[in-house]
Amino acid sequence: MENIQEQIGILVKLQEVDGQIYKLKDTLQKKPAEKEALKEEFAQKGDRLKQREEELKAAQLKRKDKELDLEGKEKDIKKYQAQLLQLKTNKEYVTMQREIEGLKADKSALEDSLLELMDVIDRLKVEVQKEKENFAAEEKKLKEETVKIDQEVKQIEEKVAGLEGQRGQISVNVDKTLLSKYERILKAKEGLALVPAVGESCGGCHQTLPPQVINEMQMKDRIVTCDFCARLLYWPEQKDE
Ligand SMILES: [Zn+2]
Repeated sequence: MENIQEQIGILVKLQEVDGQIYKLKDTLQKKPAEKEALKEEFAQKGDRLKQREEELKAAQLKRKDKELDLEGKEKDIKKYQAQLLQLKTNKEYVTMQREIEGLKADKSALEDSLLELMDVIDRLKVEVQKEKENFAAEEKKLKEETVKIDQEVKQIEEKVAGLEGQRGQISVNVDKTLLSKYERILKAKEGLALVPAVGESCGGCHQTLPPQVINEMQMKDRIVTCDFCARLLYWPEQKDE
């Protein structure tokens, strides 16, 4: 390689771009899960509406049962009252009379519970209506948030495409062997292949570097690799000390 220092300079620029690309792609990868989570949350809200609707339906069925029951009692009362007139003995009359009283009591209890049930139904109807409105609002919110995520994805993809263009322009100037080594590490090390020494430590894994590695970096006649994390190392140009 002709000029190590120049190559490192180009790689530093490339790493800067690649770092951004890596972060953006990482953000992109999380987007489908974000959308999925929104859908999941929305589905749960739909379940709540369904539950209320089922409660209402059950109460309405119960009401129908009670109404039928009530009708039956009324019919029986009428039937027994008609029979009452045809009875011969006093004993039969008293028994029938008692029967009718019993039916009337049942009827009255049924009417009370029907009234209670109708209150329940009215309350459930209000709740169902409220849940329906909530659901519609949530549906709208889901759509808006999904659109927002899609727009973010598009923006990020455009940014990545721009950066990929930049990286292409930069990478043509990197030695082929060095570039392929750099790209291999980039893939294996989560978008960070080239790191500066920070003090006497590796800027990637933060392990303390042996003195001869630091010497080699400072000499700049070959590209040094960190023994701990296998990243490419360079000695930063300007140091404050
Ligand atoms: Zn390291």
